[in-house]
Amino acid sequence: MREFELIRQIQQESSVPGEGVKLGIGDDAAILEVPRGKCLVAATDTLNAGKHFPDDAEAFDIGHKSLAVNLSDLAAMGAAPRWALLSLSLPEPDSKWVRSFTAGFRSLAQVHNVVLVGGDTTRGPLSINVTALGVVDAGKGLLRSDAQVGDLIVVSGTIGGAARVLDLLQSGTSVRDRELLDRPQPRVRLGQALTGYANACIDLSDGLLADLGHILEASDCAAQIDVSTLPVPKELQNLEEHERWNYQLAGGDDYELLFTLPAKNKGMLDQWREQLNLNLTVIGQIEEGEGVQCHTADGEIFKPVRPGFEHFSDLD
Ligand code: ADP
Ligand code: MG
Repeated sequence: MREFELIRQIQQESSVPGEGVKLGIGDDAAILEVPRGKCLVAATDTLNAGKHFPDDAEAFDIGHKSLAVNLSDLAAMGAAPRWALLSLSLPEPDSKWVRSFTAGFRSLAQVHNVVLVGGDTTRGPLSINVTALGVVDAGKGLLRSDAQVGDLIVVSGTIGGAARVLDLLQSGTSVRDRELLDRPQPRVRLGQALTGYANACIDLSDGLLADLGHILEASDCAAQIDVSTLPVPKELQNLEEHERWNYQLAGGDDYELLFTLPAKNKGMLDQWREQLNLNLTVIGQIEEGEGVQCHTADGEIFKPVRPGFEHFSDLD
């Protein structure tokens, strides 16, 4: 099977009409229409085998994850995803692998009404680059730089589970349920709901402390975190507290949203929890100063040790 046959296969397996798609796969470039009053929001991420996903990951899961991490970036901006471009570097033109990959990609794309409008297919070490494009009302995008002193710090879902799964796999333990690592769910609907209410937002890819640190730096402020409030996935339930907190503070790959919310908007949390059927937890607040201070429920300072995880995403 040659490159153009693979492209045709991807096209056949992905061709659906999409909002704003004037021209999709098949020409030199796609033509897309951004509605009046909206801005285009663009994000791109590359996944390399052995680095951003385990070598034994299923093609279906790689398809899912390569789109998920990009939709997560759009979600963190408050954008509605619309379109995606897919650049595939494959060691060999393996039609079965591509079928399974596109099935994973497509199943997530369908959930969020994302249409594949183009890409590139080459031969080389397994590597997947996805560009996700979305729209947001002009001036409404959620930035890292807009946190305000007094804001509540809120996270979605649970934290630390993906890092635990990765750690187990890397230590040679077989893990039956790898879903948190292999099929993260981008919080697309939450991101859009937050626009106009939250001040700052980021998605958790590198670990809570690292990513919260980006908000603090961009917004020139500090944060207090109560580690006893961090939402616990089942993967961490049997661990001793300190070990669990280390996973939750330093572990990456969760792809949950962390946002800062003016206290006056706290009432929205219940509405979003119900509408989105999603866990939302207040874990701390924004203060004056710099850096993050973590404490336990009884006010004791907790200093995380950076665990020696080999993060697949440590260069990102
Ligand atoms: P060109 O040489 O003009 O760049 P290509 O032969 O690379 O065109 O691609 C032909 C068409 O197929 C283009 O519309 C391109 O966007 C699309 N395409 C190629 N590879 C992929 C892919 N992996 N996923 C989606 N679309 C693809
Ligand atoms: Mg061309």
